[in-house]
Amino acid sequence: MLTFKTSEEVLTFLRLKSKHIGLVPTMGALHRGHTSLVNKACNENDYVVVSIYLNPTQFNHASDLENYPLDLERDKKLLKPLSDQIIFYTPEHKEIYPKKIQRNAYDFGTISTHMEGFYRPGHFDGVATVVEALFKKIKPQKAYFGEKDFQQLQIIKVLNIQKKLNVNVIGCPIVREKDGLAMSSRNKLLSPNERKAAPIIYSTLKDLSQKDIKTDVSQMRQFFKEKVEQHLLKVEYFFVAPVCNLIPVSKLDSNIKYRFFVAVFAGKTRLIDTVELVRI
Ligand code: AMP
Repeated sequence: MLTFKTSEEVLTFLRLKSKHIGLVPTMGALHRGHTSLVNKACNENDYVVVSIYLNPTQFNHASDLENYPLDLERDKKLLKPLSDQIIFYTPEHKEIYPKKIQRNAYDFGTISTHMEGFYRPGHFDGVATVVEALFKKIKPQKAYFGEKDFQQLQIIKVLNIQKKLNVNVIGCPIVREKDGLAMSSRNKLLSPNERKAAPIIYSTLKDLSQKDIKTDVSQMRQFFKEKVEQHLLKVEYFFVAPVCNLIPVSKLDSNIKYRFFVAVFAGKTRLIDTVELVRI
């Protein structure tokens, strides 16, 4: 596996090959959710650049950034056996932010206003800043993002159009632990008891997606809170929003495709999840 620290090295290598390039942007602490993106990218491209960059401008709290469980050597070992097509790209801050570590300001309209956009002010501007920089530097034909961060995925699709970046943005399904917990780098920060409690998030969402009370969102929110908060967990938000505009609703319409969006604290660790709502 090739390892590069600058986009110049990556591009010089790739230009020599003039092949189809896929990009998988990550913040490291890789797990099977990330490798599912990498495997898909390897099947669809000649080379796959896996970037590992802990982007300071998308964090809301310094302590979250400081505690992030980054381990580049472990990540390299995890990726190496997957494919010879992988390029491990670990840019330094000056690569992404040549002048000042500062996020750009974007206007993504309503899709960035609610849920993560509301509870993590500036977060999506930070994400868009790094993704725009990576798309411009690496110039991939395709880039892969997880539906785990569903709102982020929609924002990147809009960013790509607004900035005419010409990348095919591909969404990939959520990979879960056997007990249903969505895989996340932050799961490593859970205490054994928090880890034991966390699968209730997904199991309750699954339950709800099959229940009959699926017209009234406040009833669903109450059900979710009652179930989840028995287990060491604290619900930050529970929303139901149409996939097309991500504006939370209070009543459901039978012709629209919706998803549940939740954020839950397990101690200091914040977990998010999203599940598609099956027919009402
Ligand atoms: P992160 O390193 O958390 O920024 O994630 C990098 C990419 O991996 C993002 O596109 C995430 O949505 C995706 N990802 C993270 N966890 C999962 C998961 N459990 N299943 C699928 N994709 C994921």
